[in-house]
This record gives sequence, C-alpha cells and structure tokens, in this order.
Amino acid sequence: MGNTSKVMKKIPYKIYLTEEEMPKYWYNLKAVMKELPDPMIHPATLKPCTSEDLAPIFCRELIEQELNTTDQYIEIPQELLDFYKMFRPSPLVRAYCLEKLLDTPAEIYYKFEGTNTSGSHKLNSAAAQAYYAKKQGIIHLTTETGAGQWGTAMAMACAYYGIDLTVYMVKVSAQQKPYRKAVIETYGGKVIPSPSDTTEAGRKILARDPSTTGSLGCAISEAIEVALKSNNCRYVLGSVLDHVLLHQTIIGQETKTACEKYDIKPDIIIGCTGGGSNYGGLIAPFMGDKIAGKNDIRFIGVEPASCPSLTRGKYAYDFGDTGQTTPLLKMYTLGSGFIPSPNHAGGLRYHGMSPIVSKLYHDGYMEARSVEQSKVFEAATAFARSEGILPAPESSHALRVAMDEAILCREKGEKKTIIFGLSGTGYFDLSAYVNYNSGTMTDYIPSDEDLEKGFASIPKV
Ligand SMILES: *Cc1c(COP(=O)(O)O)cnc(C)c1O
Repeated sequence: MGNTSKVMKKIPYKIYLTEEEMPKYWYNLKAVMKELPDPMIHPATLKPCTSEDLAPIFCRELIEQELNTTDQYIEIPQELLDFYKMFRPSPLVRAYCLEKLLDTPAEIYYKFEGTNTSGSHKLNSAAAQAYYAKKQGIIHLTTETGAGQWGTAMAMACAYYGIDLTVYMVKVSAQQKPYRKAVIETYGGKVIPSPSDTTEAGRKILARDPSTTGSLGCAISEAIEVALKSNNCRYVLGSVLDHVLLHQTIIGQETKTACEKYDIKPDIIIGCTGGGSNYGGLIAPFMGDKIAGKNDIRFIGVEPASCPSLTRGKYAYDFGDTGQTTPLLKMYTLGSGFIPSPNHAGGLRYHGMSPIVSKLYHDGYMEARSVEQSKVFEAATAFARSEGILPAPESSHALRVAMDEAILCREKGEKKTIIFGLSGTGYFDLSAYVNYNSGTMTDYIPSDEDLEKGFASIPKV
C-alpha cells in the first residue's frame, strides 16, 4: 500500500518540502570524487595554498570548507538553517504548461531559486558566508558584483547579521542597472563602480584603459585589495570556489529529497554555468550517485557562446582576477585577461569555471553546451508566457537546452525526465528584455583570435 500510493501520487505543480524535510547537511562532492581537482596553489611558491595563506583574505571556517576533501556531509549550523527557513525550501516545479506548449512526452521539472527577494540562488551562499564572518567577529566584508545579484544577496545577508559591506560593481552594470544598485544600498551596502580610483588595482587598470567598462575579474582585484588593507575585514566571493559550491548544494539536496518523495528519476539534469556554483550545487548529490555507479544521469552545463569557458577554454592553472592577485585555480578558463562582450547574461560573464565542475567535465562525467543569446531569449519569452515566471537571462540558458532536449524527445518519441535549474528571476534585467523585444539584440561569438588574446594571459605554470 505504502509503495503503490507513492507511485500513484499525482505530481503537483509545485513540490514543496516541509521545514522538517529540509536538508541539514551540505554535500561535499570532493569527498566522493574518484580523482580530486588539482589544489589551489600560491602564485609565488606554486605550492598548494594552506589555511594560513588564505586567512588574510577569507573567513576561517570558509577556508576549512574550501580545503575539506574528506567529509561527504557538512552540517549546516542551526542558526543558519533558521535564516534559510526565511526563504527555503524552494519549490521543484513540474512544468506542465511548458510540456503542453512543446507537445513533448518528456517530463520537465525546474528547481526555482528565484523565490527569495534577492531574486537568485546566490543568497544560499551569501547567508552562509555572512554567518561565518559574524561568528569570527569580522565587522566589514568586501566583494564584487557583476550583474548585481551577488551584491544584492550579500547586502541582504550582511543586513541580517549587522556587518558593513562594500561592493565593487562592474561599471557597465552600475550604469545599466541603477535599480540593482538601489536595492544594494537600501540593504545598507556601499556600492563603488569598478574600476575605481579607490584602489591601486583599479587605478592601474584605469591608467591602461580609461574608457573600460570593467569586468568581474577587475572588481575582484579591487575588493581583495581593500580586504587585505583594512582591519577586521575579509573578502567574500559569490561563485567559483569550492566552499561557495558547497553552500549551493542545498539546492541539490532539496531536489533529491523531492525526487525521492515522488519517485521522480531524472534522466537529464541541466543548469547554466557562469562560475559553476548553482549548477554544481544542483547536481552534487546526483553526481555523487553517478560516480558511485548508482545512476546514469546525463549532466549538461550551459554557457553563453560569448563567454565559452568550458566549450572553448583551456584546462589550466589561472588567476581568478584581472589584477592577477588571487591564488591559482586549475580550471577551464579563457584567461584572466579575457574581457567578454557586454552581453545580457551578466552572471555568466566570467573567464573561469569552478575547479570542481571543471574536473567533472574534464573527466567526462558531464557535458557542456554553449548557446547564443537570441535563442536564449526566445526560450525565456516562451517560458514566461507558458509558465508565468519571468526567468533570469542566466537561467534561460539552462531553459533553452531543457527545451531543446524536450523537443528532441518529441521527435524521437522518447519519454525522458528532465530537470533544470531555474537559478533566478529576470526582474532586474528588463533592459535585456527591452533589447530582445525591440529586435536590437545581437549574437556575439568571439573569434579564435579573440580567444588567443585571452589565452596569452594564462600564466605558464
Ligand atoms: C550569478 C548567477 C548565475 C551564475 O553563477 P553560477 O555560479 O554559475 O551559478 C546564474 N544564474 C543567476 C540567476 C545568477 O544570478
């Protein structure tokens, strides 16, 4: 009876877990990977970074998590769980209306991270990072933001814990997204358009190119410099690093619990990859099972054709920032000197990729695909009109490929189960929709020569 009632259960439009069912642990993929990613190394000594090397930049417990390769499950502190409960669990939605629109036999689900007011998954890690900073007695945090989602999430988290926050915001975003800036400031964050004249790194970049529109890599250099030079201050990063991906595994943990509750067995899991944190977090427990031989799920990471680190980048040690101040990470990269064209998926315009996601891709556990932005917005518009949610441009990359796979199911008459990560909402990116709706959106694909310029900035290690 128990068993049949489980199988017969009609799947609701939205699957919500109860508070009690919420995961109490993050999932540390490194503890189950057959081969570990190469370690982060110090750019001067080329030796693996120790916690002492990292202590001036990052909070202590975050460094522990960054370097932890042995504990598969890491407990989420109760106080942080209480903060999470303000905006989690997030729903796993059955896309009945999209299935109908596509006339596909496939079952499509999306894990929607846009239900909190910061509008994206980034609050999952922002909350954790502010919590550990507070616990350590840190009074000031610095960070960068590209499209603005990370700055917004961090500002909310810092407001909750009473920590000062300075956000170096990529100049072009600060200009294009004044509302994002307003939100950050409303939550008490201080916004400085980057590059700025407040740091040596910023002044150097401005001297070289006074009209630069900025980049994430450059904003990172500025934020780190201030953290190093100020008292009781640390730097926080919104993606790429292992501890950020770890915090995002709450997405995958919830998704897996929801799947088990309704006996949903995904065949394909898709997500967008900028720095790799939301996708790495979504797939973590499923990927762990795949590594253990318990499933045969296809994993597809999707990136913009304008910033194709997985599909056209090099797997090499590289800096995380343009100023070349960070530790070296082994990752798929376009080179820290690569400045992507100002396309509309701001959160995906990063030259590198999470070392964990990079390693999984390199070892053949997942696939990667790149898509052009006009195709992405075509999908976003269809989704908005059928499912009612205005998706973030970043998330719409995953949506595009989920729709392509569902259409393929229709053509082949295959009934597959597809899950994709809908990492956020598009309400702060309306200029992108204006552009698309007015027919002025263009697709930019860098030439091999463009990429060579970026590759030239990769250090010879
Ligand atoms: C920042 C952002 C991303 C990209 O970051 P990842 O670290 O690759 O997850 C994707 N979607 C949204 C909505 C974002 O704000």
